[in-house]
Amino acid sequence: MTDVSTTQRRKLSPRERLAIFERAGGVCCCCGGKIEAGDGWIVEHPTALGLGGSDDRGELRPAHKACADAKTYGPDGDLATIARAKRRKAKHLGIRKPSRFPCSRDSRWKKRMDGSVVLRD
Ligand SMILES: [Zn+2]
Repeated sequence: MTDVSTTQRRKLSPRERLAIFERAGGVCCCCGGKIEAGDGWIVEHPTALGLGGSDDRGELRPAHKACADAKTYGPDGDLATIARAKRRKAKHLGIRKPSRFPCSRDSRWKKRMDGSVVLRD
């Protein structure tokens, strides 16, 4: 699967994770709440990589795991937005899915105005 914009995701070392956490003061970038010891948290990209967000260290923020999942997988989450952006880009570039319907332009057959079905030439 290719993303609309291909920002490479790099691995973070535990030290980098800690630096990101401390810079943000341990505050979740999604809900603004404090991330307590024992809370699951991840390093989040405020702008999703799939939407052209940057993977620069300065762009990274800690977030509760639950908050980040909602942001990523929710109905208006990043994945939905990324899928929408991809469809829009494909359409813009004139790439379209072959139609599933018989006698569509992708079919060898076409239906004439009088109702007869003939082989496309
Ligand atoms: Zn949160």
